[in-house]
Amino acid sequence: MNTIHKIKVAELGSGGGGFGGGGGRGASRVMDLVYNLTDRYGPRLTNSPQFRAAGEWAVGRLKEWGLSNVQLEKWSSDMPGWQYTYFAGSMVEPVYQPLIGVPVAWTGGTNGAVTGEAVLAEIQTPADMDRFHGKLKGKIVLTSPAFDLAFPTTALARRYTAAELAELVPEIIPAGGGRGGRGGRGGAGQPQTTMQERQAFQGRLRTFMKDEGVLLTLTATARGESGTLFGGGAPTSTRNPNGASTRVPLETLTSSQSQVSLTAEHYNRIARLLEHNVPVKLQFDIRTQFDPNTDSFNVIAEIPGNAKKDEVVMVGGHFDSWHYATGATDNAAGSAVSMEVMRILKSLNLKMDRTVRMALWSGEEQGLYGSRAYVKEHFADPTVMKPTAEHDRLSGYFNIDNGTGRIRGVYLQGNELMRPVFEAWFAALKDMTEGVVTIRNTTGTDHLSFDAVGLPGFQFIQDPMDYDTRTHHSNMDTYERIQQADLEQMAVIEAAFVYDAATRPDKLPRKELPAPQPPGSRGGLGGN
Ligand SMILES: [Zn+2]
Repeated sequence: MNTIHKIKVAELGSGGGGFGGGGGRGASRVMDLVYNLTDRYGPRLTNSPQFRAAGEWAVGRLKEWGLSNVQLEKWSSDMPGWQYTYFAGSMVEPVYQPLIGVPVAWTGGTNGAVTGEAVLAEIQTPADMDRFHGKLKGKIVLTSPAFDLAFPTTALARRYTAAELAELVPEIIPAGGGRGGRGGRGGAGQPQTTMQERQAFQGRLRTFMKDEGVLLTLTATARGESGTLFGGGAPTSTRNPNGASTRVPLETLTSSQSQVSLTAEHYNRIARLLEHNVPVKLQFDIRTQFDPNTDSFNVIAEIPGNAKKDEVVMVGGHFDSWHYATGATDNAAGSAVSMEVMRILKSLNLKMDRTVRMALWSGEEQGLYGSRAYVKEHFADPTVMKPTAEHDRLSGYFNIDNGTGRIRGVYLQGNELMRPVFEAWFAALKDMTEGVVTIRNTTGTDHLSFDAVGLPGFQFIQDPMDYDTRTHHSNMDTYERIQQADLEQMAVIEAAFVYDAATRPDKLPRKELPAPQPPGSRGGLGGN
């Protein structure tokens, strides 16, 4: 309790204020970290120039704090660097209207300003390709009809109610899939196909658009309304059904059609005009740049342990973001909290038996690639499941990647042996959180890479806030969305958990080692 009090003072400051108020009287540095990760160095699309600059900044800051073994640990990805350096888009006929849009990652530019006629061409099957063959040359293609936008009648952001949290507790068997019961992701009308099938079709579609001489394609989703838009990236590799992946050649990416994600109302106006047979002309000027260097990195820093310094407790979250905004809630929040945890523990000069290691991952958004590469290199290859000596010495991993909402509890990830451990740790933090412990699994982020090889990897229950409605992979995932008091609460709780794990007599209890998993069986590992 004395150490936890010290951690609180180190983060929240003394003399009142601090927690709950976020009034700036505390000693926290977490918002300065968020500023640097977003406004100054964001966005952090994996392997982009900004991502690399942000990595160098993080290394400098971690060294400044006196942390050990600070490094950008390399892993080999199949993603070239990409950024867009200019975007302008507008409707020019029948009337002028500027368009809210952002180019999709790893798509090509327009090679100067281009003007073209817009056409509706819903292409979801090879038969659709035949139907539109020869009709799309020089056109700007809308890939779906106008979206129905539900009238918003609920608050944009919310916290979990006491009743919602209580519902998580009595669950006995972890429900598969889902992200802690928070649905509503993804575009409307996605066909029910596997990731491999979708990837294969997307690859064919890209070739088709290029062969047909399409000028540019436009997309939107019903979720991306009121000036907000959501998007992802063109795949940089394709995976065949047995799991083997092939890199998309750089020339193919560089010369691919421009693709732009638009906010739904602007997309819909164009679509409705076309549905009424009113010709629409659009103008775009898009500049994108590629860098052939596909080497990526995870950011690593340590506080060496004492009596059991060969044993390791890990903390982290993903460092990369999408490029639509500055990646504030996804996941500057988790990166800043992880860094703040290291800063607090180091500044207090606590004697911890085990080594504490922070890892900030890259390639998470494209499929947890950075953490999977790290786990394979250090602990075990899940397709073979032959654990290394390091596997035996890792106590556990704590991850944050669900936005800005404060910690309300933790998912056991099916590890019932951890229930009394977490309950005891939360009991010492009752003034800061309910500390709900649920057997439920939560998916979609980097703790899964550890869980996949039988290592204790955990993600917290966080308030949903406006993650699903406004920020997650959107052009409005900005500094403003970060709630300071929530990040400070997370930093205190996670620092206490890491301290507890690094000083308790035993390593954290584990589930049984899973059987080897064939390489094609990773459908659920898409990034968040
Ligand atoms: Zn994320």
